[in-house]
Amino acid sequence: APADTPQVVIDAHGLPYLNARLPIRERVADLLGRMSLAEKTGQMTQAERGAVGQGADITAYALGSLLSGGGSTPTPNTPEAWARMIDAFQLRAQATRYQIPLIYGVDAVHGHNNLTGATILPHNIGIGASRDPELAYRTGVVTAAEVRATGVPWDFAPCLCVSRDERWGRAYESYGEDPALVESMETVIQGLQGRANGKDLSRNDKVLATAKHFVADGGTAYGSSTTGTYTIDQGVTTVTRKQLEDIHLAPYQEAVDRGVGTVMPSYSSLDLGDGKGAVKMHARGDMINGVLKGRMGFDGFVISDYNATDQLPGDRAAQVRAAVNAGVDMMMVPYSYKEFSTTLADEVRAGRVTSKRIDDAVARILTEKMKLGLFEHPYADTSRAAAIGSPEHRKIARRAAAESQVLLKNTGGLLPLKKTQKVYVAGSNADDIGNQTGGWTVTWQGSSGNIVPGTTILEGLRKAGGQVTYSKDASAPTGGHDVGVVVVGETPYAEGAGDVGNGHDLTLSAADRAAVDKVCAAMECAVLIVSGRPQLIGDRLDEIDALVASWLPGTEGDGVADVLYGKRPFTGQLPVSWPKSESQLPINVGDTAYDPQFPYGWGLTTLAEPPRGGTSTLRALASRAAAAERHGDSRTGRALVTRARHLVQQKAAGHLTQAVSKPFADADHLLLTGRYGKAVEKLAEAYRAA
Ligand code: BGC
Repeated sequence: APADTPQVVIDAHGLPYLNARLPIRERVADLLGRMSLAEKTGQMTQAERGAVGQGADITAYALGSLLSGGGSTPTPNTPEAWARMIDAFQLRAQATRYQIPLIYGVDAVHGHNNLTGATILPHNIGIGASRDPELAYRTGVVTAAEVRATGVPWDFAPCLCVSRDERWGRAYESYGEDPALVESMETVIQGLQGRANGKDLSRNDKVLATAKHFVADGGTAYGSSTTGTYTIDQGVTTVTRKQLEDIHLAPYQEAVDRGVGTVMPSYSSLDLGDGKGAVKMHARGDMINGVLKGRMGFDGFVISDYNATDQLPGDRAAQVRAAVNAGVDMMMVPYSYKEFSTTLADEVRAGRVTSKRIDDAVARILTEKMKLGLFEHPYADTSRAAAIGSPEHRKIARRAAAESQVLLKNTGGLLPLKKTQKVYVAGSNADDIGNQTGGWTVTWQGSSGNIVPGTTILEGLRKAGGQVTYSKDASAPTGGHDVGVVVVGETPYAEGAGDVGNGHDLTLSAADRAAVDKVCAAMECAVLIVSGRPQLIGDRLDEIDALVASWLPGTEGDGVADVLYGKRPFTGQLPVSWPKSESQLPINVGDTAYDPQFPYGWGLTTLAEPPRGGTSTLRALASRAAAAERHGDSRTGRALVTRARHLVQQKAAGHLTQAVSKPFADADHLLLTGRYGKAVEKLAEAYRAA
């Protein structure tokens, strides 16, 4: 810590819990034995930092945690201001009887997005498109380093949602629609927490991670509630037990195995068709106590979602009791923190919540605090603040932006562009860093415009040395240009039903459609869609020569320029099925009837050598892939499937019938589950049908 911040003098005075040399289990048992009921319920309470003023209530209520929530009042905007704020609040915690440090949490869901100047990575959907577990790991490394450097030890990420319907307003927080894809991206947990998990957490560049939202947040039905008040976000997921296990629970077992420190239940309800109806996840003891903590063996703590208990039936006491008894250990009660803590204590005194349950919750919380080293180092360590927005981190974000680009169509090999070509750039998202970073950027909802430092796609193209002219609204797109690049898509949003401006129907705005039509009528054109989810383009596809799904690439537009100019090849693959029309939704890999515009896993490449071969090549690849699978050689297996995929894409581009799309998408799921032989066989089937 800097010289002017107060230091905690660790003098154990014979108190075992302060003795960092003792095993954490012993320290926790010692501390727990000393605490009063109010101190225990205080530990289980998380308040919004905007609600506690200078923090007197931290001392008065012995609060365990603070957060800067998405909807928080403006958060500090410099690393120094963050550190000063954390330190001031920790001082309040040091004024409590046992000097238990606070644990401070933020949503850093694509880099330290709370802070202007931080490195903003692509949102998860783009990382899923990269199909690169090593990259997912790096995103965790970058995020953790920048977050901890501002004094924050806890990140409410990653979202392990398996997004099953593009109309969900959180689709971009998902790595994709296939649980196998989500699982493969969970290397991010090691990036955040360190490879040695518990042992690394006390490092000044690691944070505690949160797997959210448990469980099946990405499976809610669209407007299907009987009350009609639900949007698809926070709605009801109706699935069989088998679907729940295979699609939504599987990523949590992976997270538990990877040692994730905290889990956040979902606002949504779960209906298993067992006659119990739709029950809110925060009250589902069968899932939190039973499956997560019981069967899966999760030993970290469960943090509720923001005000989520308010959505449970009954009065406050009933809500508190239901959530705590279901297994929620800490309650995110931003403004009602006093009521929560005192109500919970009353429930314990009335015998409706057992002291055993309270002790279990507090022990879990204290254990993570000790792993983080907070008792010894509660104050912000800003010695690594230079990492924030550093060239090294931006390099990783640039690579991530490049790897996330999915080339959906490329007639006549229009992409990559050549430096000799005169390029006409247009569209609402060509030069807008706010639109490029999306929601959860500086503010909860994000916003258009010049909100954070970075490089827009237009600037990236210019920096790459392209001969570029630009007109946002595509006025007069003539005058001898060789090729048009039209960048369209969504404006930022977070949660709820998504981009309200675009409505729920996932179509491009009128201005975007006009820009595409104008440019594509005048010259050969590439269209980039900067959005958190697929956009319906329908017949307009015929007038577009090259189409790229750019997702929400973050602050490094250079990465997008890298693939457009061929400095790096396009390698991204669709993490979700790209629908033809809204009537097809929901549409997902594995569906019996499956006829999307582009299948899950689709993504052309611009590798220098075009793939060569036909049916017999595919037969040979299948047997070699099966052999690689038998030998546990995943590297070779993956490479062989990739070669087969390229062959199919070359032949099938423009003939994407159901007979091609279905086996093509299935192959990608098989690849992710290590069944390389079968994956190539599926691709051979797609090849024959093309
Ligand atoms: C979101 C969570 C988030 C929390 C705190 C909620 O609205 O659902 O994902 O962690 O707010 O900001």
